Amino acid sequence: MKKHNFSAGPCILPQEVMQKAAQAVVELDNSGLSLIEISHRSPAFIEIMDKATSLAIELLGLQDKGYKAMFLQGGASQQFLNVAHNFLETKAGYANTGTWSTKAIKEAKLLGEVVELSSSKDANFNYIPKGFDIPSDLDYLHITTNNTIFGTQYKALPETNVPLISDSSSDIFSRSLDFSKFDLLYAGAQKNMGPAGATLVVAKEDALGKVSRQVPSMLDYKIHADKDSMFNTPPVFAVYTSMLTLQWLKEKGGISAIEKENEAKAALMYGEIDRNPLFDGFAAAEDRSSMNATFTLNNASLKDSFEAMAKEAGLNGINGHRSVGGYRASMYNALPIESVQVLVDVMKTLEQNA
Ligand SMILES: *Cc1c(COP(=O)(O)O)cnc(C)c1O
Repeated sequence: MKKHNFSAGPCILPQEVMQKAAQAVVELDNSGLSLIEISHRSPAFIEIMDKATSLAIELLGLQDKGYKAMFLQGGASQQFLNVAHNFLETKAGYANTGTWSTKAIKEAKLLGEVVELSSSKDANFNYIPKGFDIPSDLDYLHITTNNTIFGTQYKALPETNVPLISDSSSDIFSRSLDFSKFDLLYAGAQKNMGPAGATLVVAKEDALGKVSRQVPSMLDYKIHADKDSMFNTPPVFAVYTSMLTLQWLKEKGGISAIEKENEAKAALMYGEIDRNPLFDGFAAAEDRSSMNATFTLNNASLKDSFEAMAKEAGLNGINGHRSVGGYRASMYNALPIESVQVLVDVMKTLEQNA
């Protein structure tokens, strides 16, 4: 039986994407060859890379706005370092909203002065600090639009004139934002796009290649942009699968269409968390993530029965991250609302049986 997959990442992808990707591993488009045995410089793969990057730009509404999309490697974690290499000249500002921001700050500190402009560490990162001062002499401000572990999400972007850079690994392509406000954003593929192994980087082209330090080639966004993500062998399977997911999203009506579905799923999930006396939400209500809902069971004696019922209902991946505890329901683009309903029904049944 297919499980209801609430895993935080790697995570659920559309079924049809899985099938097409599996088929391409066997044989790509009746070519007599597998996707993973052809040259990345073959016309067939160049077309795949072009499609994947142009779909990313199109879905984000960034056509003709001077942006370049790239598929790189090393995960979002590699970008923590790459961002600093490519943009940190004298001083960068970071908003610390959780585990991933903390790691981004640590890497940037290797290369220059880093100011932590705000932090919600005082409350185990259960909210998004707002209205903090942003000095005008920063090289950039780095934020994490969605905090996968703690379940918080910026509903509005900070107002600033300094270049804005974001780790959007866990909410890319899930909701409408004015993406032209970013100089650069990045996202590991494995949360809303494809398998692990590729990281999407979308950058304003004229912001690249400006830093005075010598950037090692593999860390240099300008080199990857100029080479159309083919400076070295790209992760062909991850790029192809991401392309399929982006095509799927476009056919569904793009970000504005999926955003409505994501809002409906989040409303159903948080509605039950708030209604059911056995559960408490973890994140501050106004900052709740539409992708990752974090919550706790307030009656420890029911833990075993809740988890047994969840398992019985085919729910997968609802355990919270060890730094938060409790539960986390990750509701990425491909998760159907029916799966959320199954989880909500289990929570209701637990209450009725208690
Ligand atoms: C998962 C995640 C990461 C880490 O991604 P890797 O690809 O494993 O390096 C970083 N930031 C956020 C917001 C994430 O959700």
